[in-house]
Amino acid sequence: METAVKKWEKPHKKTLVHEYTRDMYLESQNYTLDKHFPVEEIIEMQMLLENYSIDYSSVGYTDVSELEFDDCSDELEEYAEKLQNFFIENTLDTVVDDVFSILYMDKNFLHEFNRQCSDKIQDMEKADYPNLLKEDGVIERISYYPTWFKYGIEYRDKLRCSLCGCDLSSSFTTIVDENFDHIIPLQAGGNNDPSNWQLTCESCNKSKGARSSAYKNIIFPFWEMDVEI
Ligand SMILES: [Zn+2]
Repeated sequence: METAVKKWEKPHKKTLVHEYTRDMYLESQNYTLDKHFPVEEIIEMQMLLENYSIDYSSVGYTDVSELEFDDCSDELEEYAEKLQNFFIENTLDTVVDDVFSILYMDKNFLHEFNRQCSDKIQDMEKADYPNLLKEDGVIERISYYPTWFKYGIEYRDKLRCSLCGCDLSSSFTTIVDENFDHIIPLQAGGNNDPSNWQLTCESCNKSKGARSSAYKNIIFPFWEMDVEI
């Protein structure tokens, strides 16, 4: 909860989605290892380390490709533990970054993720979180928008309004802070983590309404398809 509160307050490069992905990955990996199924995890970690060209010769190589998934021994468990420590130290953050790059494109996921956060935020009281909340259940809006944060959202949303699809790159005025809008509005329990922001045009931004419950994902194609392909 402490981590979430920090992430909800203002944009961090390592978002709450990063933290969530990392925790989910480790939780599932530890669950399998605790159940004494080291082979499955060894195969997956070796594959990832090799895909990322990470030299893990310091841990040694144990070939488990011929083993059954439920084979287990003290040696295998010991190797899995050593490999996992190496993996966490050297590769996990890169895997998490890559997963984030995919999840960050998926607005339906981001909407649902932040909707679940809003259930918690709406129950929070200002007396307990005086720096985070403007009033009970409502997080204070940020006043500073880091450049990396704006570029990331502009790049993902292709300089279009996320609600009506209008082209913001052709407007005479440049994109301003007001074009950055919360996917789940702050008044509905939204937060300031980068996962809860999108580009919107001025007119959509002003007519917020109850769109968080009627979210519609718009996918902008990279190019228009011809009628006859
Ligand atoms: Zn719009």
